Amino acid sequence: MLPTLFFGHGNPMNAITENGYTAAWRRIGESTPKPKAILAISAHWFVPGTGVTVSTTPRTIHDFGGFPAELYQVQYPAPGDPALAHRIQRLLSPLNVRSDHSWGLDHGTWSVLRHVYPAADIPVVQLSIDETQPPPFHFAMGEKLAPLREEGVLIIGSGNLVHNLHAYAWGEHARDPYDWAVRFETAARQLMLAGDLEPLVNYERLGPDAVLSVPTPDHYLPLLYVLGARQQEDLIRFPVEGVEGGSISMLSVQVGD
Ligand code: ZN
Repeated sequence: MLPTLFFGHGNPMNAITENGYTAAWRRIGESTPKPKAILAISAHWFVPGTGVTVSTTPRTIHDFGGFPAELYQVQYPAPGDPALAHRIQRLLSPLNVRSDHSWGLDHGTWSVLRHVYPAADIPVVQLSIDETQPPPFHFAMGEKLAPLREEGVLIIGSGNLVHNLHAYAWGEHARDPYDWAVRFETAARQLMLAGDLEPLVNYERLGPDAVLSVPTPDHYLPLLYVLGARQQEDLIRFPVEGVEGGSISMLSVQVGD
């Protein structure tokens, strides 16, 4: 059975930068059995309803503004996998999962996969996050998708456990993590290690640290898909750590080996 992984993707520039995070992402790709296909749940496809990409040639979407031209030239030409998309639709039935022909791979997916699987030779399918649904819905989606792990499919979530752009230090100088960011990340890690996932599903009840760390759900919810796909025997570990700009957690979560 393949592991399932949550990546803190952070700044889109990580796509074309070599740093401690990207080196760790590369090591994850090298140490994980090569999957037949990848299912990616990205913070950046946060829309009403659930859709799955069915294109055989998903486009590389440059869904950001104000970055250097070099970043807009990046292509991640991994093929799609319509058969996997249809398998996902069956697994999630009776939920209506629309076949999406217009989305492709957004930067939540390709900025990370470019390092994890630089050859771009593994088919990738993206599943949207239904913005109209509460957190337990997304955890349940992960539970329904878990059988894919035994079918050679690597399920990845891409977001950030702590993601507060309002508090983010945009300047050049590094800023120490905010106390609330450290407290929330620490609490979340302890809950994951203890296998006590319910408070993470209902994270809004975790108090003011959660409100500051997860001011909007888009970058947090991909984690719930990954945690939902956990099996009883899976150990959880954190192969990438760090906080950027005071308020963006780069934590990666690996569920299983
Ligand atoms: Zn993002």
